[in-house]
Amino acid sequence: MSQPPPPPPPENDDIYYPTHHHNQSHNQQPPPATFTPYPSLRLNPVRDHHSENYEDMQLDHYPPLLLSSLERHLPNRMLNRPREEKAEYMTNILNKYYPLNEHIRMQKQREYRQKIISSYPPLHKEIYSMHAENFFVPSFLEAIQGKSEASLRRVIAEPFKGIFTFQMLQPGFCQKLMEEVDHFERHIKRAKLKIMRPNTMNQFGVVLDDFGMEAMLQSFMETFIRPLSEVFFTEFGGSSLESHHGYVVEYGTNRDLDLGFHVDDAEVTLNVCLGKQFSGGELYFRGVRCDNHVNSQIQSEEIFDYSHVPGQAVLHSGRHRHGVRPTTSGHRLNLIIWCRSSVHRETKRYQKEFPTWCAECKRQRKERIRARIASASQNFFGMRP
Ligand SMILES: [Zn+2]
Repeated sequence: MSQPPPPPPPENDDIYYPTHHHNQSHNQQPPPATFTPYPSLRLNPVRDHHSENYEDMQLDHYPPLLLSSLERHLPNRMLNRPREEKAEYMTNILNKYYPLNEHIRMQKQREYRQKIISSYPPLHKEIYSMHAENFFVPSFLEAIQGKSEASLRRVIAEPFKGIFTFQMLQPGFCQKLMEEVDHFERHIKRAKLKIMRPNTMNQFGVVLDDFGMEAMLQSFMETFIRPLSEVFFTEFGGSSLESHHGYVVEYGTNRDLDLGFHVDDAEVTLNVCLGKQFSGGELYFRGVRCDNHVNSQIQSEEIFDYSHVPGQAVLHSGRHRHGVRPTTSGHRLNLIIWCRSSVHRETKRYQKEFPTWCAECKRQRKERIRARIASASQNFFGMRP
């Protein structure tokens, strides 16, 4: 007989409390005398709790105010412990969510941006702050100002479930943005600065947030993407989008040719073609999946291809699996804005039920129900003489 398999790891170790297993073998270490459960926090803060001041303490990398604000999320048994003990407890939790390398990465990113912004002279200063009437086509602005699903639907098409397309950017703005990217790349080369690419998959392209467009893109996201996401992507955290990653990608000869099949590190993705002349480069979509099922089989009803048109936007969930076909001639630039929601990510951690938007979760659930019905009816008929 084979050994029973080891118990599966906990699904969410952040809310996992170790339990005493009675079937532990004897050569295993007993729990320490002062047995402390896994660190945990309460979801809702204790509103009337007066947090300590951590200003004078050496706290590795964390701002003292962060600890003061986190303190109200401590479990009861920790709330009135000595300050040092609470600080250590909270630091341990923070270290799980923000590993050291992430801190170093964030610090380096801040330094990198500062260095670039202080040395880079913009070509088109006017696109660094939001001027909606110069950026967007009138039909799109009207749809947003209408503040209703009906006004959005009037200009926004949904050629495939969960994929929305619409005319968004004026040709003049697209032109300026492409010139700015080109100007920035020349500056980087001339100044012999290192360029940080937008993601792990694109070898070409630039992060707009790195050279001064962060505030403009934040307002772009809040005022012109979130209103759409609130309506079309509610179950993906569309109404709580709070941060963005904005970049331009370049495809063509001497650039990236295509992009493999993937999901985005975003709740909602906006992708707008800026130009120029090109052929090929279609986006192919192949079904929405949760983390557990990103590689599961494509169903025939999930196949949708989309051809770019300059100025036209496509908006989709980051979980919608997609890829980019080769750009067969010419040069193509696209503006991509990944919109994120920490609230959505945090609540997802605690969800026990399967996500209703994952097609594979749905399929498996149907399959389970079918099997249960089949076995029940077999038992029923089996009992007959
Ligand atoms: Zn799933």
